[in-house]
Amino acid sequence: MAIQLIRGFKDVLPPEAAVWQRIESTARRLFENFGFAEIRIPVMERTELFARSIGEATDIVEKEMYTFADRKGGRLTLRPEATASVVRAYIQHRLYATEPVRKFYTIGPMFRRERPQKGRYRQFYQINVEVFGIASALIDAQLILLLVTLLERLSVKDVHAHVNTLGCPACRPQFRKALAGYLSPRTAGLCSDCRRRSVKNPLRVLDCKVPACREAMTGAPALLDYLCADCRQHFEVFKSALAELGISYRIDPRLVRGLDYYTRTTFEIQTGALGAQSAVAGGGRYDGLVEALGGPAVPATGFAIGLDRLAELAAGVQGDIGAGPDVFIAVLGAEHRQLAFEWVCALGLAGVRAEMEYGTRSLKSQMKRADRLGAANVLMVGENELQKGAAVLRNMQTREQTEIPISELVARVKTCIGGNADRP
Ligand code: AMP
Repeated sequence: MAIQLIRGFKDVLPPEAAVWQRIESTARRLFENFGFAEIRIPVMERTELFARSIGEATDIVEKEMYTFADRKGGRLTLRPEATASVVRAYIQHRLYATEPVRKFYTIGPMFRRERPQKGRYRQFYQINVEVFGIASALIDAQLILLLVTLLERLSVKDVHAHVNTLGCPACRPQFRKALAGYLSPRTAGLCSDCRRRSVKNPLRVLDCKVPACREAMTGAPALLDYLCADCRQHFEVFKSALAELGISYRIDPRLVRGLDYYTRTTFEIQTGALGAQSAVAGGGRYDGLVEALGGPAVPATGFAIGLDRLAELAAGVQGDIGAGPDVFIAVLGAEHRQLAFEWVCALGLAGVRAEMEYGTRSLKSQMKRADRLGAANVLMVGENELQKGAAVLRNMQTREQTEIPISELVARVKTCIGGNADRP
């Protein structure tokens, strides 16, 4: 049997790949307008980097990482997320030395050995945005503005911002204690994951989706009641900045996210259009991580957008990208193929999407093929045309035919195809 791809992995084929390109170029333009620069980081790191940043007691580190022994005995992991690597690069290259405020974005594949289902893959793609050196909650609000704007520019509807705060090392321990106290008489009713979490990482029980766990958590203490004055103030600034930007949001006290490094602001962008996997993007502040990984005490905040899910949402609004050629050159007689080939190349170099017949099909089957490709025009090249010194350009929609002098073919075709002619 022919070799198949690995379970949970997928190919992105055209025309879907064109949707991905459009998302990526829209995101790049938006982020660069806001002062973000691209950073490219490797897909593999030392396992320790993820264990220390994401947290030993998280689902990702406990059971989802693709980890293997290197030949010399070191342990390597295919990255399950990008933030840890960006932080490593920020520290390793002393990017804080000249200017501690740095804004990066990066796009690429992540790997998690989750149970595959629609919207959940083992290799998936993220667009990540990370800001270093800004403690103010204003930048957290700006991140939400970027997310909401990107989705709007991609015409994605039914988008909701969910926000929360996780406090800081000064106030979270009291909450954790209160939560552990609440959980201890209730562990028997929790799912097996949450029974384990209730001891090791009780905050994670808050966002478990299992109905019995949700039920058990209805009367749980809320972190908002345990915030220290600084965290409370930070959350207030965040909320009023969102209001000023006209962004509506919902406070979701259960939004704790799956990674240990978050402090204060957390958020998720959800949509009703995706079914069970409703989160398109998530992020938050990770003020202690740079220091924890051996760098200076620099605050940081960021988000990750799930590109696979976003592509699914944006697929319906793809515009003319991936559409058929502007011109299909129908060759009437094999002896004219060389000339058609010269035209195809000259048109392509001039920014006109051109395709031709390389085989020996009849005119009828060439016209059928032009139709199937969605060609906007067909240019005929045969003995008659050459004798007259003019080729016929047929508009496939209006059926209108125009004679094009061969001596100025490229320029005249460009004029005839009108709106599309300014492509580089
Ligand atoms: P996380 O790093 O878990 O906060 O995820 C951020 C975003 O990445 C999510 O909102 C999803 O859109 C996307 N994502 C996370 N895990 C997967 C996965 N296994 N398959 C597809 N997309 C994912």
